[in-house]
Amino acid sequence: SELSALDARITVCRACDRLVAWREEVARTGRRASFAHEPYWGRPVASVGPADARIYVVGLAPAANGANRTGRMFTGDRSGDWLWAAFHRAGLAASPTSTAAGDGQRLTGARMGAAVRCAPPANKPTTVERATCAPWLAREIALMPEIRVLLALGGIGWGAVLRVTREAGWILPRPQPRFGHGATAKLTTPDGRAVTLLGSYHPSQQNTFTGRLTEAMLDDVLATAKRLAET
Ligand code: SF4
Repeated sequence: SELSALDARITVCRACDRLVAWREEVARTGRRASFAHEPYWGRPVASVGPADARIYVVGLAPAANGANRTGRMFTGDRSGDWLWAAFHRAGLAASPTSTAAGDGQRLTGARMGAAVRCAPPANKPTTVERATCAPWLAREIALMPEIRVLLALGGIGWGAVLRVTREAGWILPRPQPRFGHGATAKLTTPDGRAVTLLGSYHPSQQNTFTGRLTEAMLDDVLATAKRLAET
């Protein structure tokens, strides 16, 4: 499909010098001791989930020792563990865990991607890197005509959705909607389809360890996403 062709192109992108250097350096030398003998992906990470998904989840970026190691979005780190478990509770994922591509995990009705496809140092992509990676997200959204809900995990995902939909000629509310947990904004595609942008705190350890994001809060957001996807 066109979407898998896009995925294949994403995984060989080398547009950001700093991120190419970092993702490859971590894969070569910067490994965490517990993964020292495992092969690392060390490349951009494509999205996971079916092309006809109504819910598209936009995260921040792969983690250096997470998806940058496994090659599968949101796997191999605690954020991913949290997310897959919540997706399973919501009935969107076949199993509560995902470890790497080929693990038998399957999403139904949802696809997961990220604002930036390469692991950034300290999980902080620069403004230029965010802008450089945005066209991949734009192309992906354009190839998913069933999307009803864009679920942004964190403010960077939220900002990426606003940027690419505005540039694609979607009608956005004014003033620019602000990110928050449970925040929503109504977007309209150029051909008149209604899509809801929904915000959730990112399941990063700094949010989950501190209780800023609880399992119940994530479950609530996913229930809202499912409800909005049905309308
Ligand atoms: Fe390409 Fe995006 Fe990776 Fe930059 S972050 S190298 S644009 S895939």
